[in-house]
This record gives sequence, structure tokens and C-alpha cells, in this order.
Amino acid sequence: MVLDEPGRPLRAADLPDPEPAPGQLLLRVAACGVCRTDVHIRDGELTTGTRPIVPGHQIVGIVERGGAGTATAPGTRVGVPWLGWTDGTCRFCTSGRENLCLTARFTGLDLPGGFAERTVADERFCFPLPEGYADLSVAPLLCAGLIGHRALRMTGGARRLGLYGFGAAAHVIAQVALHQGREVHAFTRADDAASQAFARELGCAWAGDALAPGPEPLDAAIIFAPAGELVPAALRASDRGAVIVCAGIHMSDIPSFPYADLWEERQIRSVANLTRDDAREFLALAPRVPVRTTVTTYPLERAEDALDAIRAGTIEGAAVLVL
Ligand SMILES: [Zn+2]
Ligand SMILES: [Zn+2]
Repeated sequence: MVLDEPGRPLRAADLPDPEPAPGQLLLRVAACGVCRTDVHIRDGELTTGTRPIVPGHQIVGIVERGGAGTATAPGTRVGVPWLGWTDGTCRFCTSGRENLCLTARFTGLDLPGGFAERTVADERFCFPLPEGYADLSVAPLLCAGLIGHRALRMTGGARRLGLYGFGAAAHVIAQVALHQGREVHAFTRADDAASQAFARELGCAWAGDALAPGPEPLDAAIIFAPAGELVPAALRASDRGAVIVCAGIHMSDIPSFPYADLWEERQIRSVANLTRDDAREFLALAPRVPVRTTVTTYPLERAEDALDAIRAGTIEGAAVLVL
């Protein structure tokens, strides 16, 4: 499935099988998660990247063969996340912050992604996946899980955690937060009874309207929904010293708000991308929780329907293309 230009529907295309360059693996794609970032790429809210491009950055693939210099055996199941390549030499790479690499390339944006039967990926950015997860169940861990977990780490030891937008990432991270003994409150659109019920089923202590404060002040909040008005709403819902983590790659403009809402050491920060250490850490943690993913599956050629459903917020859990 090819994106020719932002704003246009993905198009089914017959492309030649990719050839693995030195250091790359040729993968047969088994499943690929669909992320809100794919919606932003499709809709032109991210302006960088290669065109045309095959999107998809939560790839579960089986190694068919490796290019020169690779060591992964054919038949190995690997996961390919959003971070697809870094230079290893810039001031961010050399200080443990490769997620901020100045020349990073991202899977399904700059590099071929997983909305395809076959793709290639740099072996250094392919990860062994925990056994005990089916292909379609493990796919959402590769972005919703990894970046959600990085966002969760940024909340430190916060006990009462608010999750704004209860989609793929929140449904994974709520389980991790509960496992860590935190209290989780789910903030959704006021009339989204289905997401609120889903959040309560997963163990959230409270679920309700995102634009009003919850029953008790939050120690931290993670905003997964791309709506800027949630930032001041989360500040108003939060206690002194709380951190508000914006975990999406794109958000509508944040409306202005009184300084008093930020006062008392409240913080607002973003989380960008992931490091390979994040991937190793989370993929080891997920089966210990254990994180169970709720997925809605689509065949490859219905990728547009999956994007529509994410845009409309009608998916329970995560959307996954299964090949
Ligand atoms: Zn770098
Ligand atoms: Zn993603």
C-alpha cells in the first residue's frame, strides 16, 4: 500500500521485491500495526519524509535472508519500530539520546514500512519479539507500547496517572501502570461510553470527560490524543508538581491559559520517538506484566479503513494489518 502524496488515499500497488542492502534484512511481513502517526502522515500533518512511501512502523516480520554482513538466521521473527536508522555520531547519538538524532530516519516515513508483503530493515533496528504473543497481538507493542512506555517513564513515580485518549497506546500503558501499582484515570470524549467502559474493564479506577477535572487531582498525565485543548485541561486536572507528557508526534495548537494553571511546579513536556534501549526494555517487560493487547484486524488492502477508524476514534485497542 503506497502513499503517493499526503491527503490522497493509500493505493494498492505491485512493487518489485525489495533487495536487502548490506546490513539490512529482507522480511516477509506477518502483521503491521496501524498507528495514529500513520494517519498524520496520510493526512499531511507531517510534512517531512520520502514520497511515494509504503507506510507502517509496527512491523512483525520473518527474516527471509540478510544482506552482506548480517547475522540473523532466516526464519527468525523480528519487530521493526519507528526508529529505523541513526547516524551514531551526532551530539544526541553520542549522549544516549538517539531518539533525537539529527539525521534519524523513520520507518514508514523515510524508509519503507510494513504495509506490504515484504520490506527491508536495518538489522541493528530489528528486535527479537517475546514468545507467547501471536503476530497480530505483538504488533501494537512496537509503537503504542514502546513510545507509550517512554512516556510513562517520564512521569517518574507519579501515583495517580491520567491518560488522555484511550486508544492503542493508552490500553497498553494502562496495564503497565496498574502492574506498577499506580492508580489510572482514563480521560476520553465526554460521550465516548465505549472507550470509558473499555478503560474500566482494564482496571482503570475512573473514566470520564477529558475536558473536566477528574474526581481527584492527578500526579501526572500522558496526552495521547492530538488535541491541543487537552494540555490546559490536563493542567487544571493536576496536582502541584505534576508533569503533563505529550506523547504524540502532532497536536493541534495549544490554547493559551493562565499562568496560575502552570504555577506550583507543574511541567509540560513532549516525548519524541524511542531509543533502542527503550525497545529492549519494554519488550522484556511486556510479557512479565503481562500486557494483553486488544486488536481489530484488517487485511492489507483495507489499510485506509483502519486509518479511517483511528481518525474517528472507533477502534477498541489497536488496529493491525494481518497479511
Ligand atoms: Zn545521531
Ligand atoms: Zn507509531
